[in-house]
Amino acid sequence: MQTIKTDLVILGGGIAGLWLLNRVLQQGYDALLLETADLGGAQSVRSQGIIHGGTKYALNGVLTQASSSIADMPSRWRACIEGCGELDLSSAKILSEAHYMWSKASLGAKMTSFFASKALKGRVDAVSPDQRPEAFSHPDFRGNLYRLNEIVLDVPTVIDALARPHTQRILKINANDIQFELADSGVTALQLPQLRIEAQRYITTAGEGTEALLQHLNIQQPQMQRRPLHMVMVRHQSDLPTFAHCISGGSKPVVTITTHPASHGEYVWYLGGDLAESGIKLSSEQQCQKAEKLIRELLPWVELKNPRWASFHINRAEPKQSSLTRPDSAFAQTAGNCIISWPTKLALAPDLSDQILTLLDEQHIAPASKADTLVTGQLPHPDIAQPVWETMFC
Ligand code: FAD
Repeated sequence: MQTIKTDLVILGGGIAGLWLLNRVLQQGYDALLLETADLGGAQSVRSQGIIHGGTKYALNGVLTQASSSIADMPSRWRACIEGCGELDLSSAKILSEAHYMWSKASLGAKMTSFFASKALKGRVDAVSPDQRPEAFSHPDFRGNLYRLNEIVLDVPTVIDALARPHTQRILKINANDIQFELADSGVTALQLPQLRIEAQRYITTAGEGTEALLQHLNIQQPQMQRRPLHMVMVRHQSDLPTFAHCISGGSKPVVTITTHPASHGEYVWYLGGDLAESGIKLSSEQQCQKAEKLIRELLPWVELKNPRWASFHINRAEPKQSSLTRPDSAFAQTAGNCIISWPTKLALAPDLSDQILTLLDEQHIAPASKADTLVTGQLPHPDIAQPVWETMFC
């Protein structure tokens, strides 16, 4: 069996693994990314694509650590999209230059003055009636509307921009085939039926799949948690781009709507927020009925043409927190010669890569393998995952 040596093996090709692959290759490391399904196929292409700068996490009027550690992500992503950032994402598509927060009724004085405060200057703007997006321009709209200057991305195009330059380093493997050779010093090799791979560090970016990898690797800490969501989609034929969170004084949006282009000139309104978090025990039919009723109540003037509803369950995979709370930042931790990581948000992928590069530096892991390690055609290359609305509606 062929043995190849590389500096870093990255397990998992969602946003975290692909961003990291690009960054480490840029730093001169030799690296291989192994993926068991389609690239971005679990959480990343099912995310709403919002590159948060933290304001959404300040809905109770307080900028938490979540809001501060994420604050410079929008400008880092924007620089990449404009082709002048740490990575070149100039081929990725922006779905919206901003997203909005709206309240059904007028917001209380506390929130209104918080949104106008110095802390949020330049991040949140009140929107005057003549500048409202179409869904909120109806005369019956009585609430407040704020614009958050944070982009919303078409995630499959981001995944493509990150994967395309490095196809040769991204390999598809079978989850059941992965075996680690373990010694007291840590992992000595990763063994596949066709190939044995020795690396200086083995890095998990496998989202929910990290839990099984931790078992294979015999690592007890860190542990993983799942936060389940029941997302709703309505596929329709109205060109009504809407990117907005409905807020009502709680710490979470009642619903978050993003709009995505679908095949055959159609569109999808993708619905998350508290609707998805609180609906996890409902059947798909109940959840779709609840969502339809909510949208009718919140935006009664909106008539989507030929709407078809569907829902699905998905877990957010994150490092374990006390009482299933939402982690505040990206997470990377060393365990022997492995690094276990979760970005916790799409937006935090750059921060996760920074953390991993720092860990490599602290452990004096320098590029050692030849940067031209070639993997012969023994393993296929994975495809990019399709958005869920292309597979769930017939
Ligand atoms: P994933 O995207 O899940 O990728 C993990 C990859 O690892 C998969 O391709 C999987 O096939 C592969 N894999 C699994 N096991 C193995 C193995 N053993 N070996 C090799 N590969 C393996 N964040 C935001 O910032 N903005 C948003 O708007 C947003 N919306 C969201 C909406 C939803 C519905 C969800 C679920 C999440 C959302 N998030 C959002 C969070 C964000 O999507 C995730 O934090 C992020 O995508 C996680 O990326 P990842 O690369 O760690 O995991």
